[in-house]
Amino acid sequence: MVLAQTQISVSRASFATWFKNTKITENKCGGVTVAAPNSFSKEWLDSKYRALILKILRTADPNIRLVDFVVDSTTEAQPKQKTADALPEELFEPQMQFEEFKIDQKTNLNPHYTFDNFVVGGFNELAHAAGMAVADSPGAVYNPLFVYGGVGVGKTHLLQAVGNKIARSFPQKNISYTTAERFISKIVEAIRNQEIENLKRKMGQLDVIIIDDIQFFSGKDKTQEEFFHIYNVLHQNRKQIILSSDRAPGAIPAIMERLKSRFEGGMVADINSPDIETRMAILKTKSEEMSIKLAADVLEFVASNIQRNIRELEGALNRLAMYYKINKISPDLIITKKILKNIIAPPKKTTNAKKIIQAVASFFDLNQNDILLTTRRKEIVKPRQIAMYLLRQEVGESYPSIGRKFQGKDHTTAMYAFEKIAKQLEEDDSLLNEVNLIKQRLYNEV
Ligand code: ADP
Ligand code: MG
Repeated sequence: MVLAQTQISVSRASFATWFKNTKITENKCGGVTVAAPNSFSKEWLDSKYRALILKILRTADPNIRLVDFVVDSTTEAQPKQKTADALPEELFEPQMQFEEFKIDQKTNLNPHYTFDNFVVGGFNELAHAAGMAVADSPGAVYNPLFVYGGVGVGKTHLLQAVGNKIARSFPQKNISYTTAERFISKIVEAIRNQEIENLKRKMGQLDVIIIDDIQFFSGKDKTQEEFFHIYNVLHQNRKQIILSSDRAPGAIPAIMERLKSRFEGGMVADINSPDIETRMAILKTKSEEMSIKLAADVLEFVASNIQRNIRELEGALNRLAMYYKINKISPDLIITKKILKNIIAPPKKTTNAKKIIQAVASFFDLNQNDILLTTRRKEIVKPRQIAMYLLRQEVGESYPSIGRKFQGKDHTTAMYAFEKIAKQLEEDDSLLNEVNLIKQRLYNEV
């Protein structure tokens, strides 16, 4: 039943790969254990599907509060690898490709994430340099190392690369990588089983603790409390603490002040979005890694159209790689555009105040001055209010500035107009229609 529900919630290909060979092996006191056929799929399920599985289990039994994942090699074969005869539709589905990397059982580190395959550019060089320094002398330079940045910019990769490098240079060191979510559930479980002191003692003996996505500690008072003690023990003993977050320490809501100030007490390094040169470099490196050849214009098209983060770049590359696998030829620019059309947002159309006034005026068959000048003529009131609404809505103009445009009206006039139109749009379909037509004219003329 859980499998059936899951199948509805995830794509066909993901389902086949990740869920088919799982089974539920335990259900006691609100805790469920899901057995996966190998450590890689266990890790994957744990990191990507924990919330979904928990949600589905809860619809079956609301008492279930925790899911855990274990490896059970008796649960049949390896997960299916994607092959050339994989569904062509995957090309158009957000998918990632996987190689089977063994997550280290002891450290929980994924050996794939290294410094060797970490591209450095202006956007991440500070974080990279700090990470290298920490990897060379853990506990001695920046403690803690706090890395922050948006999704898909390489925080996890960097944290794990530091961990892997330390593991290689200092094999005797006791390293642990964990996500904040797992950390939280470990703490919660330990408290429930009265094993918290035990857990804290164990964690206090680590040489390197890495916690990813620490923003999830927000509002988790009990976890913060326990972590605070672990943190102090480790820090006093000059053990390395490495943390990541999606925002700066000071910007994480509902975090105890004393933790915040500790997070800020070492090195805080941010990672931005990669610039175009770096995006090109990343695409080159990764396509070589995947052994697919892509023409320069294809690389350039991808790099200039996918700008936000590296995960999206990889997603695009995976689609191109899939095409290559199936057809045994590199996609050219035309095919690339087709394959990527769903993930490339259309270029944001822009407009400006002048165009808005023009469009509104011509739509109502008025001239611009009719709209801009103060008049009480009834037929002018509505167009003027629509113009004010659009100035706010489409180009984000401030109320005072809108007011000034209309013969020095007060900002409250603009605010009133905006709110009135916004409200009417919810109720009045013909007004909605008019506004949409104006917008069409606004954006369709070049
Ligand atoms: P985050 O944790 O910030 O959301 P990840 O570390 O998961 O991002 O990175 C997303 C993907 O991009 C991963 O597959 C990672 O290997 C890759 N990646 C991120 N940064 C780099 C980089 N500088 N060089 C090469 N690959 C990178
Ligand atoms: Mg991450």
